Amino acid sequence: MKNIPDKLPKVGTTIFTIMSQLAHEYDAINLGQGFPDFPMDDQLINEVKKAMHDGHHQYAHMNGVPALTKAIAGKIKKLYDADIDPVSQITITPGATYAIYTALTAILLPGDEVILFEPAYDSYIPNIEINGARPILIPLSYPTYQIPWEMVKEKITPKTKAILINSPQNPTGAVLHKSDIEELQKITEGTDIIIISDEVYEHLIYDGLQHETVLKYPSLRERCFACFSFGKTYHCTGWKMGYCIGGSELMKAFRKVHQYNAFSTNSFVQYALAEYLQNENAYLSLPNLMQQKRDYLMNCMKQTRFKPLESHGSYFQCYSYADFNNENDFDFAKRIIKEFGVATIPLSSFYQDGLDHKVLRFCFAKKEETLYQAAERLKHI
Ligand code: PMP
Ligand code: GLN
Repeated sequence: MKNIPDKLPKVGTTIFTIMSQLAHEYDAINLGQGFPDFPMDDQLINEVKKAMHDGHHQYAHMNGVPALTKAIAGKIKKLYDADIDPVSQITITPGATYAIYTALTAILLPGDEVILFEPAYDSYIPNIEINGARPILIPLSYPTYQIPWEMVKEKITPKTKAILINSPQNPTGAVLHKSDIEELQKITEGTDIIIISDEVYEHLIYDGLQHETVLKYPSLRERCFACFSFGKTYHCTGWKMGYCIGGSELMKAFRKVHQYNAFSTNSFVQYALAEYLQNENAYLSLPNLMQQKRDYLMNCMKQTRFKPLESHGSYFQCYSYADFNNENDFDFAKRIIKEFGVATIPLSSFYQDGLDHKVLRFCFAKKEETLYQAAERLKHI
């Protein structure tokens, strides 16, 4: 067919699909795409079975099943002491990616600017550009990946519609601190700049750090969309279940887009999640569980030539190979799959200009034996 408009001319297939396909082809251990290889909790599976047997098979309310939105509001109150109205401020979505896309689509007009930080999770920029808006990219400092707030101030213009943050961060594992959110608050005080906060790794935070949600800050709460993913929290990334919390006026705009797209989200899983959310231990135990995995991988990697960069959250830790190889990170990552049988993600794929610090992202959300085997293979490099 001729004349199919290319609305995303810069975009090919996502790096996660490319690397997972290669991993499959070469039978490599996949520490590339972020997904756990250990089982999820049987209790949640049983809740799903029960919800199916209870007959929850028809369309849920477009905003979500009330029992679930209420349970989420209760959790936010308990964890972050923030009052969120489940009726007007929470919408259940088919995953966090969808929530972020919907939030951006609800607010962006052609010519608007969105400030975001690189390395950036791969869906953000296409989500902005497909709406005719412009990503304004600010590099995080290397190698600690902190936000240079002075630069953020300089990049704000009358066209700035939103600032997109992500903590704990994918791909680096960097975490925003209270001082960062306070800075964000100060910089945007008295403006209409909307904060889109990707908080899918809220419970995957280590070294005694606390997650700083934008929802905790009253002056940001009305001006934000905070996006979450059950897939990350409950080790079921394939379920594609998430939610968005936003200021009530913003949430009206969000729902206008949502109602003509997905309209509503899987009903029986929502009933199951509403029950399972009562089990606080399921999310409160995550920092401990996942920090052990990060540290286990780091320990195994000592026998290799890779050097860990700091990671305080998420599924990921970055490792530098700058000391022993000058190959570009994409070629190196592909070669490691083919010759050594381990898949990772090259960090340059999270930069528009392909900035290459010779760093690879490793997913440690795996069984210890998987992490051990991967390091055993990598020690031959
Ligand atoms: N944001 C970030 C930073 C992620 O790592 C992911 C997980 N792939 C998502 C959003 C998407 O989450 P979901 O699978 O729920 O769409
Ligand atoms: N978020 C996952 C990662 O960063 C991948 C999700 C996807 O494949 N789109 O690896």
